[in-house]
Amino acid sequence: MIIAHSLQELSLALESSPNRVFVPTMGNLHEGHLQLIDQAKALCTPHGGLTVASVFVNRLQFSPHEDFDQYPRTLERDCDLLRSRGCDVVFAPNEALMYPQVQTFKLTPPTELANIWEGHFRPGFFTGVCTVVMKLFHMVAPSTAIFGKKDYQQWLVLKHMVQQMAMPIEILGYPIVRSPDGLALSSRNGYLSDTQRVQALQLQKELGATAQFVQTQSNGFQAQCQTGMDTLRAKGWKVDYLAVCQQHDLKEVDHWGSDDLVILVAATLGTTRLIDNMEVRLTERIQ
Ligand code: AMP
Repeated sequence: MIIAHSLQELSLALESSPNRVFVPTMGNLHEGHLQLIDQAKALCTPHGGLTVASVFVNRLQFSPHEDFDQYPRTLERDCDLLRSRGCDVVFAPNEALMYPQVQTFKLTPPTELANIWEGHFRPGFFTGVCTVVMKLFHMVAPSTAIFGKKDYQQWLVLKHMVQQMAMPIEILGYPIVRSPDGLALSSRNGYLSDTQRVQALQLQKELGATAQFVQTQSNGFQAQCQTGMDTLRAKGWKVDYLAVCQQHDLKEVDHWGSDDLVILVAATLGTTRLIDNMEVRLTERIQ
């Protein structure tokens, strides 16, 4: 496995194949990230392609009050894990390489998709994500990039970005990887105390209850979400949103239409903000 810190090292490492399957990350890797690498490997190995991961904590997507400084940086351990899963190339740029000048050019995604949910509670987040991902795409020139559906809105925004910007890159979404007790794996789970780690299961429980409601009822989704948010708040969470949305545009719905649905949730326990989601397909509806 080659670890590239500069663009020169990166282009040397990428020389052997134009068929590159790319997994961008902010590091502090866990099984969720590593399964994206497994999928990348499964996709490119038969064609002699390269599995490429990047590790870069992107300042541009953090608001000033967020955890940029505190975000765990564990590059050596990350590289060991990536090597153990057969990753071919790790691109680990520093800030001076990604942002040699103040990044005044930015890629702004459409407000109707990017200023709702995560974008509403984290202003500028998707602009930061799109800008860094676009730069990484220019540097790595992948044929395919894999993102986790754990960050459902991010995956959707990036799919739209490559379509509208005519970038010749296939964007794939990988299902959420959870710990055995159901908590979605996240680098931020490490901020939770032992007690909070147990309390955190409530988030998935409310998602499950909402999913069950949606599967068995035809309307009243918003009232059900309100109940779920009240329950979480009563248990000490600060809730940003719990909503039933159409999968294709993330517009909130109160009843079934013709699209599959996704339930999105974001809430903070202590000082740790967690997000999760659950897809519910039309075909899973119990009538
Ligand atoms: P991050 O390092 O948090 O930016 O995540 C890098 C990539 O891994 C993103 O595409 C995430 O959606 C994905 N990812 C993070 N956690 C999970 C998870 N539990 N399951 C699936 N994908 C994940």
